[in-house]
Amino acid sequence: MEVKIGKCRLIIKQGDITKEDTDAIVNAANTRLAGGGGVDGAIHRAGGPEIAEQCRKIGSCPTGGAVITTGGLLPAKYVIHAVGPIYRGGKGKEAELLRSAYLSSLELADKYNLRSVAFPSISTGAYGYPIKEASLIALQAIIDFCQSHPQTSLEEIRFVLFTPHDKEVYIQSLEELMENFPQ
Ligand code: ADP
Repeated sequence: MEVKIGKCRLIIKQGDITKEDTDAIVNAANTRLAGGGGVDGAIHRAGGPEIAEQCRKIGSCPTGGAVITTGGLLPAKYVIHAVGPIYRGGKGKEAELLRSAYLSSLELADKYNLRSVAFPSISTGAYGYPIKEASLIALQAIIDFCQSHPQTSLEEIRFVLFTPHDKEVYIQSLEELMENFPQ
């Protein structure tokens, strides 16, 4: 699925994010930037040790924030390591922190003058965020960013979902949000 929001193309697809040829891919990282399982493990495996070396130098990143490193051996030039919240029932600041992880990533991409960036579904794996809720927050953050940054360098934002089910959830959520924000 593809829609236009301001000057940004927003694409939802299924795939392995490590294969994406966007200027940057986003990693669902942890606060210690320590590497782990899921998409984080896949990115470090495919990108090689240079990414972890730069993460070590940076040290850490607060939940809701993002930092940038080389893409190492990946097709993408950069990896943006975004830290989403661990889901603890939704009564805390999870929604705000998840939104902030997306916005911090987009601000960093814009600061580096990147034209394209690919996101995984942050926090919906090991961190347990229900995917429907998370998809609405993620897509709304991107819509808001594109609408409030008409001068952004970003021309294309991709969601690369690992499973067909996750892709369908994101498409359904985008359709719901677009009903409220017709183009
Ligand atoms: P978190 O700890 O933020 O929940 P995970 O890596 O456990 O991060 O999961 C985030 C999402 O990334 C999950 O939906 C998972 O299916 C997905 N994922 C795992 N590997 C890949 C990959 N290679 N490309 C894209 N998405 C992936």
